Amino acid sequence: MALRVRSLASGSSGNATLVEASGTLHTTRVLVDCGLRPAELARRLQQAGLEIADLDALFITHEHSDHVGHARTLAQRHRLPLWMSEGTRRACEAHAWELAPDQLGLARDGEPLVLGELCLHPFTVPHDAREPLQLRFTDGNRQLGLVTDLGHASRHVVDSLQGCHALFLETNHEPEWVRRSSYPEFLKRRILGDQGHLSNAQAADLLGQLQHSGLHTVIAAHLSERNNQPEQARQALAPVLGCAPEEVRVADPAEGTDWIDV
Ligand SMILES: [Zn+2]
Ligand SMILES: [Zn+2]
Repeated sequence: MALRVRSLASGSSGNATLVEASGTLHTTRVLVDCGLRPAELARRLQQAGLEIADLDALFITHEHSDHVGHARTLAQRHRLPLWMSEGTRRACEAHAWELAPDQLGLARDGEPLVLGELCLHPFTVPHDAREPLQLRFTDGNRQLGLVTDLGHASRHVVDSLQGCHALFLETNHEPEWVRRSSYPEFLKRRILGDQGHLSNAQAADLLGQLQHSGLHTVIAAHLSERNNQPEQARQALAPVLGCAPEEVRVADPAEGTDWIDV
């Protein structure tokens, strides 16, 4: 039994995260979000020793283009089972996509979803999308939390991520950098608001509420390319983890991460 995660891209220019569980007989791979063109996705999968045909399902967290961008092409071309919430389905009009009748599945907050060797636990997050879902994964042994695109850590988010051995955690921005940026006011308000993105300090605060002796790896993710730097994210999370800043892993916006065992 083994559970592992690999980011293929993370940030506002495109997200794709691969989660893999290997059982005694089978291996299941779920791609969370598809903000990469299929050719680029194929190239990055190749670096991981895989191809698109090795994917078992695609899970879309919400309708923002950095997450759903190329999901339609991928699902149609490769007949991949596609999972999302009803709200996301409506928001991206996925019911009108040319999919096989049984290809589109609806996920709901609080309803575990078993896909081969993986069990997904979707939970809603405060974000300015119709019905965004983030995920906790388990192979029955280890637990992985994956949470990006949230404006704040609601009680439900904190409860949903308890007991994780590894966390893929949004560490989006330094609020002061956003305020001083050349972004239009509405965008600044959106990013900094309760339904926007998690700042470095908010991520550290959430991490503090999830910390336990079994949590061994935290991956800072969905960093703003303009309003954050890996160093800032590391500095924010390291004190909570009690480690040196350089030991905090960061998902590179363009290259993601290597395989990380959960
Ligand atoms: Zn995003
Ligand atoms: Zn979003």
